[in-house]
Amino acid sequence: MSARILVLPGDGIGPEIVAEALKVLEALNREAGVALEVERSPIGGAAFDAHGVPLPEETLERARACDAILLGAVGGPKWDALERDSRPERGLLSLRSELGVFANFRPAIAYPQLADTSTLKPEVVQGLDVLIVRELTGGIYFGQPRGIRERRDGRREGFNTLAYDEDEIERVCRVAFEAARRRGGRVCSVDKANVLETSELWREIATRVAARYDDVELSHMYVDNAAMQLVRAPKQFDVIVTSNMFGDILSDLASMLTGSIGMLPSASLDAFGKGLYEPIHGAAPDIAGRGVANPLATILSTAMMLRYSLDAPELANRVERSVGQVLDDGLRTPDIESPGTTLVGTREMGDAVVAAL
Ligand code: NAD
Repeated sequence: MSARILVLPGDGIGPEIVAEALKVLEALNREAGVALEVERSPIGGAAFDAHGVPLPEETLERARACDAILLGAVGGPKWDALERDSRPERGLLSLRSELGVFANFRPAIAYPQLADTSTLKPEVVQGLDVLIVRELTGGIYFGQPRGIRERRDGRREGFNTLAYDEDEIERVCRVAFEAARRRGGRVCSVDKANVLETSELWREIATRVAARYDDVELSHMYVDNAAMQLVRAPKQFDVIVTSNMFGDILSDLASMLTGSIGMLPSASLDAFGKGLYEPIHGAAPDIAGRGVANPLATILSTAMMLRYSLDAPELANRVERSVGQVLDDGLRTPDIESPGTTLVGTREMGDAVVAAL
């Protein structure tokens, strides 16, 4: 198997965690007989500093040309005062939308080795394996018109637009049903249909898609209840499908059930299986440069890349097993540390995964 992978380290801890994921890809090149060719491009604040824009045209062209993309994270206080279109986060939003990666897979898996790092009782989270499928390129984060305007009474008001068309809803629901078919066979569609017209349509389309999947069971839940249920009894869920903003919030909530945001990978796929792979956390400026960031979410993102874009599920399993092995061995970065375990830094954690491979 050969593939061209574009690596976008980004800002903050991005370069540190991506370096560890690259060690894993190099180890696969050496030992698994694959030819993964890696290129790098700037994005986010790093790209703004070098080129004056958070998503340079050349980065976008390379992203279009490669087989899969691995991203660290973008953002940081250094760029927070820039106008909105120049901010690092805008570069990432534009990349997602330019690539048309509309389906964001965010698994929340509670590793048995980390059961006591969750803030919830171990029996609530043990065995948890939920997949949140978040719509990523539509909804209120992209809707027009948007802005801050002055009203006739002199007061300023901020406004955004939440709109979804039938096709946008249908394609993400279909991806969720396909995923459920290969897992536990259940989809819960999360919306706010008691208040929002967009949700009313979302519910109607989800129900229509479900009619084509006899083997998958569909349920509906309001987003406020879903937030409550995710904390009360998260194991009731198999696949959750939801809109961009609801998915953003619920997936961060679900990440904490598992103990640390530093453990969770994500994949964002287009209609043809090409994907952008990234940890779900941000650039963590509070710990950047200290060598303590957890690289496992990024390493697990490469496993998702092997599974979903490079059609190498056996290598994906191998990377995931290696992560399980280092956790079994008791190695922990500070975010997942607990009594009786061995504290390691970013690099040692990456080296340990490579050794386990
Ligand atoms: P964050 O995810 O960067 O950090 C939240 C907390 O989690 C921090 O305490 C951080 O130290 C910790 N954390 C995150 N990743 C970790 C890891 N791998 N190992 C150990 N601890 C980790 O979220 P934030 O603080 O809200 O945002 C910081 C910056 O990142 C902002 O500029 C924000 O816009 C940006 N951001 C980027 C992305 C992205 O690139 N996809 C996502 C979210 C936030």
